[in-house]
Amino acid sequence: LSTADLIEEHRICVCVRKRPLNKKELAIKDLDVITIPSKDVVMVHEPKQKVDLTRFLENQTFRFDYAFDDTSNNEMVYRFTAGPLVETIFEGGMATCFAYGQTGSGKTHTMGGDFSGKNQDCSKGIYALAARDVFLMLKKPKYRKFDLQVYATFFEIYSGKVFDLLNGKMKLKVLEDGKQQVNVVVINITSGKTSANAHSSRSHAVFQIILRRNEKMHGKFSLVDLAGNERGADTSSADRQTRLEGAEINKSLLALKECIRALGRNQAHCPFRASKLTQVLRDSFIGENSRTCMIATISPGMTCCENTLNTLRYEEEVSPQ
Ligand code: ADP
Ligand code: MG
Repeated sequence: LSTADLIEEHRICVCVRKRPLNKKELAIKDLDVITIPSKDVVMVHEPKQKVDLTRFLENQTFRFDYAFDDTSNNEMVYRFTAGPLVETIFEGGMATCFAYGQTGSGKTHTMGGDFSGKNQDCSKGIYALAARDVFLMLKKPKYRKFDLQVYATFFEIYSGKVFDLLNGKMKLKVLEDGKQQVNVVVINITSGKTSANAHSSRSHAVFQIILRRNEKMHGKFSLVDLAGNERGADTSSADRQTRLEGAEINKSLLALKECIRALGRNQAHCPFRASKLTQVLRDSFIGENSRTCMIATISPGMTCCENTLNTLRYEEEVSPQ
């Protein structure tokens, strides 16, 4: 199977990436309950107990386009997921790539990279790898003659509001032009209290690479580090703010699932209005040449089993087959 085949087959590619057990998990002797027996299968071995207290493992199998085990690195994951989509935007299409999963499962490691020095896999993430390939592609004679210009945006969506992550957290407004393309523009400067890192697990971070040709949008690649999916279950928290944030996250992840499913079925109607996230990505869910990939990141530990199963079930629902 060539790397491009994977995406060529269908507009939606759904993958899973397992991270290694971390120091904290090793210290508490957490069990690794995930196996990846082949390149597209993930198995969860959940320890359970019968009424007579005998223990057993409940095995559940999930199949996706690709399953990456804990020895994979960002470059490998990129090559099978976002990598092939760079060509899509040069061909005038729209591409999206999402990292979905529980907080701590490796979304930011995968998308933004890991420069902490804590890991052997101290490497560039998908944002940087996609940007690298965009600049390589620009040099190809086929595309050089298009005279394309490259733009980038980086913003976060938090509690239904959009904040710039490049220019001092300015509040942004989402605009649609006559051709139903979505543009995110600056409207005002907010107090600096809404910082990216303060609640990164509760906000969606969106990095976009936009190609323009003769002042018009040619293609757009949106790379999204989603809010922790377990936050969507905070709806019964005692804290009102946490509850509201949880409800917003839940709503946006459900809307996202529906929009991707609509894209997979070539459905004309896409319920993008249900959340700010899907509104921002609206122009990427419609159109002939729109493609998407979703990378579900999972923690290997038994202590995360319930969240991992939730993540895998969501991915199964997004998956077109
Ligand atoms: P998330 O963004 O999903 O909350 P992070 O990407 O911040 O999770 O990852 C949590 C921790 O696990 C970080 O310290 C990160 O370096 C580490 N980590 C995540 N994925 C991997 C991986 N594939 N290999 C090694 N370490 C990883
Ligand atoms: Mg993160």
